[in-house]
Amino acid sequence: MMCKCWLQVNNFLQVEGHSNWFALGDITSLSDYRLGRLALDQGALVAAHIKTLHGGDAAKLKAWKKHNGIEMIVVSLGRNNGAMAVWGWGFSGWLPTWIKSRDMMVGMTRKNMGLPAAA
Ligand SMILES: Cc1cc2nc3c(=O)[nH]c(=O)nc-3n(C[C@H](O)[C@H](O)[C@H](O)COP(=O)(O)OP(=O)(O)OC[C@H]3O[C@@H](n4cnc5c(N)ncnc54)[C@H](O)[C@@H]3O)c2cc1C
Repeated sequence: MMCKCWLQVNNFLQVEGHSNWFALGDITSLSDYRLGRLALDQGALVAAHIKTLHGGDAAKLKAWKKHNGIEMIVVSLGRNNGAMAVWGWGFSGWLPTWIKSRDMMVGMTRKNMGLPAAA
């Protein structure tokens, strides 16, 4: 059953009943996994939508489509340990520690966003 606590959005990430309001990330009613990488992709789509609407062409909005990628969640267990689940397989050890626990992925995220490394 769909939880009514999510913000109801359509395929264009428009909030139900408001064509110029958008929602993205964990708060939406989309049935996708709630993942940071999806929230980033949705952010890029919403930014494009705002530009499109600003240009006055609502017919050009593109529907949200999840890009297939690795279904992975990584959790830090302190600076020297971590755990992860990939396609349903869970394990801990050096890999999740290396991916997440060093800097909580802040460095990688800044790099992907074209920002300079944090001081
Ligand atoms: C332990 C854990 C591990 C995870 N690991 C991964 C992973 O490995 N890979 C992955 O892709 N995803 C992972 N996720 C999921 C990822 O963190 C979320 O999908 C992502 O953060 C969603 O982004 P968001 O911007 O929608 O929400 P959030 O990142 O939750 O941002 C919402 C923000 O709104 C703020 N806020 C809340 N209420 C208010 C208010 N009333 N007024 C003002 N501000 C408010 C909050 O403080 C928060 O900063 C993990 C999540 C958890 C909990």
